[in-house]
Amino acid sequence: MTTIAPGEWLGLLGGGQLGRMFCMAAQSMGFRVCVLDPGDDSPAGAVADDHVRTDYLDEAGLNELTQRCRAVTTEFENVPAAAMKKLADHCVVRPAAESVAVAQDRIQEKRFMVNNGIATGPHLIVQRVDDLEGAPLSLFPGILKTARLGYDGKGQTSVSSRDEAIHAWSRGGRVPCVLEQRLRLRQEISCLVCRDADGTMTTFPIVENEHRGGILAVAVAPARVTQEIADKAREVAQKIAEKLGYVGVLCVEFFVPDDGRLLVNEIAPRPHNSGHFTIDACVTSQFEQQARILAGLPLGATAQLAPAVMLNILGDLWFHNGERREPPWADVLRIGGAKLHLYGKRDPRPGRKMGHVTVLGGTVASALARAGDVARVLGIEPPKASPPPTLQLTPQPASQ
Ligand code: ADP
Ligand code: MG
Repeated sequence: MTTIAPGEWLGLLGGGQLGRMFCMAAQSMGFRVCVLDPGDDSPAGAVADDHVRTDYLDEAGLNELTQRCRAVTTEFENVPAAAMKKLADHCVVRPAAESVAVAQDRIQEKRFMVNNGIATGPHLIVQRVDDLEGAPLSLFPGILKTARLGYDGKGQTSVSSRDEAIHAWSRGGRVPCVLEQRLRLRQEISCLVCRDADGTMTTFPIVENEHRGGILAVAVAPARVTQEIADKAREVAQKIAEKLGYVGVLCVEFFVPDDGRLLVNEIAPRPHNSGHFTIDACVTSQFEQQARILAGLPLGATAQLAPAVMLNILGDLWFHNGERREPPWADVLRIGGAKLHLYGKRDPRPGRKMGHVTVLGGTVASALARAGDVARVLGIEPPKASPPPTLQLTPQPASQ
């Protein structure tokens, strides 16, 4: 593909906050962005230069997008693969439908890891009741996850025995699932890898993630991990991007269990919530990188300019003692190094991602202390303390 120059149109499937931040980054470079999303009140649609309001599979909507844009990307992995395939007949689509498909389905994702010798946690693919009847007891206590359409902990049930797993599977409509052993996690980390159409790759600094109730709550960058773990995470993320033939920004989420292994949890074929710190803290943001790759422009430098801690802002904060209120933004902005990002969603609901605050500091410790102040002002739990430095990585057996 020839390069798409600033001033031309880039297309985006999906209208959420990741799309909004993509629009803003692409627009800063002078691109125009056309968003296709069915929602009337979509965070990306509100800032895009044009918004095609149709279903993702609507022929006329997809035509409008390809008439205007030479290249299209996506901002959420559950966009129908058929829509991406249709677009690919008329324009460049990055990442390709085939690589998005692997991340859309936990069964395909786990098989991909196993086939490529990438370590994951112990798990079982569940397609029939017999699979659960014969499930190894070592997988319990475990988590039964639907293969498709899960996010932010949705589609997941904790199960402590085969019987419970069979019941949960029946209640969930007997859809294909993955049963995972519940691991004792020392830490969770993620690596954002960027790969352009020529196969050139770069990674952002490793991020350390704290989840609460299955939703990302805090991200600390750079992660408080040994160099060895950081290097290994980068190596694995690049291997995944390469094996997928991936073109775009890809996030690889890792588990660091108590025993010092490094296991892939899941991948997301797009910029990621854990990479939001890159907007304020890195030379190039994950969204600018997505736009550069889509337009066939050189990858940007991923160096981090200041340590950063990101706190997610969920809709819960709009409700205080049973009353609806606006969170105290002025108090947040009074704290040195705090940067507020709200996604323009009009309807706060508990658990809904409404925005985030990135707090910069001279050191990770000072960014954490300031993030603690922001958390107190907002009435959320402060970031948790770091675990002691990890032991050596244990040699990795192939995936099980
Ligand atoms: P989602 O698509 O919702 O992000 P994940 O599989 O990443 O789904 O699960 C969300 C979070 O739940 C993880 O980041 C982790 O905190 C916890 N979790 C998921 N699977 C496991 C597991 N096998 N063992 C321990 N914790 C887990
Ligand atoms: Mg996840």
